[in-house]
Amino acid sequence: MTRDTLGRPLRNLRLSVTDRCNLRCQYCMPEEEYTWLPRNDMLTFEEMALLVDAFADLGVDKVRLTGGEPLLRRDLDRLVRLLAGNPRLRDLAMTTNGVLLAEQAGALRAAGLHRVTVSLDTLREDRFKALTRRDTHARVLEGIEAVGRSGWSGLKLDTVVMRGVNDDELADLIEYAGRVSAEVRFIEYMDVGGATNWSMDRVVSRAEMLKRLEPRYGPIAPIVEETSAPADRFRLPDGRVFGIISSTTEPFCRSCDRSRLTADGMWYLCLYATRGMDLRDPLRAGVSRDELLTLIRTRWQGRSDRGAEERLAMPERRPLVQIGELKRDPHLEMHTRGG
Ligand code: SAM
Repeated sequence: MTRDTLGRPLRNLRLSVTDRCNLRCQYCMPEEEYTWLPRNDMLTFEEMALLVDAFADLGVDKVRLTGGEPLLRRDLDRLVRLLAGNPRLRDLAMTTNGVLLAEQAGALRAAGLHRVTVSLDTLREDRFKALTRRDTHARVLEGIEAVGRSGWSGLKLDTVVMRGVNDDELADLIEYAGRVSAEVRFIEYMDVGGATNWSMDRVVSRAEMLKRLEPRYGPIAPIVEETSAPADRFRLPDGRVFGIISSTTEPFCRSCDRSRLTADGMWYLCLYATRGMDLRDPLRAGVSRDELLTLIRTRWQGRSDRGAEERLAMPERRPLVQIGELKRDPHLEMHTRGG
């Protein structure tokens, strides 16, 4: 097991397969046009599988495909098949906005994808349209239904909660999740790249979410778990479970074992990191396996990032990156590094 300066293991890799997305969510990718990663820079599936295999040598056993929107990457099931053949990956999951899921679910399941998380911020079509600037809410719901039909269990729904936007839908989303056999996870709105309209008063904290849900459901009990998962889970009196990811008000850097690889091979050790390490150039220059492992291992062993905790300690908190900077360096974008 490879550990960083705070003893955190290298275990969890988020692999962004594209920076393109078919939604324009206001909290993530609000502009219509972006500086996209050049096509030639994109890692091939074989390069991704090779890198994942190197990470697995050093302890990674959980991989999550993300993006941009991962289902926009053509023939994604081929990548899934390559990765699913790696016996060291205990968990191979994907986070998607669900728009293209109904049509691809069968192939992805057959290729060996273990689990799916669908981002769903609202049950209301009009809100979805205002939030994402696209008219595809019904397709997302179809995608969610397709998950059960394809034989997957363990479906999660991720909801970014924003004051004045969807914070009146918490209970409705818990009810909906129950109907589709999913577990919903409420994510505090984060001040990451892309969230250029972020402000603290639009964040609904974990404490406030719980306070709002208790009058409806009664006492909500925290579930005590020893995991590095970002969500704290809670049980309602009737036994249903939901999660809250409180990265903004109660960050969990001390147990963070996640790192992120962009579709063009930049490796980031923290969601808030402004600099990553290029793994594509050494790979394409023919680096040996041992050299590649040394590069990755050394970098992780020097890791001391505690990005979310540092943000919390700031006296005046503003969006992490301004729009001009984002345009100059797309790697600073949330949609490039996969959330
Ligand atoms: N397109 C896919 C999707 O929608 O799930 C995968 C990529 S998306 C960047 C991954 C996750 O990041 C989504 O669940 C999204 O809601 C979350 N996200 C993006 N911007 C965020 C922000 N400002 N605060 C909290 N979560 C955010």
